[in-house]
Amino acid sequence: MKIIASLLIGALGAMALAQPVEDVRYRPGKFKVAWIPSPNYNSRPEDALVDTIILHHTAGPTTSSCVRWFENPESQVSAHYVVGKDGSIIQMVMPFYRAWHAGVSKDARGKEGLNNFTIGIEIVHTGDPAEAYPDDQVMAVRLLCGYLCRIKYRNQIVQILSHEFIAVPPGRKPDPINYPWDSLNDLADEFGITMMHGRSDKGTVVRLPQKAN
Ligand SMILES: [Zn+2]
Repeated sequence: MKIIASLLIGALGAMALAQPVEDVRYRPGKFKVAWIPSPNYNSRPEDALVDTIILHHTAGPTTSSCVRWFENPESQVSAHYVVGKDGSIIQMVMPFYRAWHAGVSKDARGKEGLNNFTIGIEIVHTGDPAEAYPDDQVMAVRLLCGYLCRIKYRNQIVQILSHEFIAVPPGRKPDPINYPWDSLNDLADEFGITMMHGRSDKGTVVRLPQKAN
């Protein structure tokens, strides 16, 4: 009986091990930050003024699938931060360095190669237009943007842009689809930040910071 019991426990243990368990590192918890380095980064140009935040959606369902992709040297992509649906924040590249998230890109000032002077935030979302962004996730993005506006990586942040807005050619990227940009309004006003999203050649939304009377 004892032998059968131990065999059973052994079998259950093996079954538990066989289940795909999401690594706890990928979900530090609401508004908490974990550091999981990506090998996919390099130096910014000597004269780069880091003054822009780019928001993305991951086009995948989980934090771990995105983080694992950015951990893989073969992917040749990364972002400085990944924000999970539970409000977890994974930092993968130091903002001092150049992450690889923007691709061929241009901003409204005509500056190209946005990886050089931007901080990239990936928001976990499948890209389904009907999928909502949970409140904890939206708040985590807001907290992260607020933090990046307060500390300065070579320069003050002056604009927050969607990947969709900067992608060249226009229409190459849709992300972050249907993001609630209003959640950043008070932050944009406080720090004098312009927000631009939508396609750069049509349907563009430009929100200039409001001055308090
Ligand atoms: Zn993107």
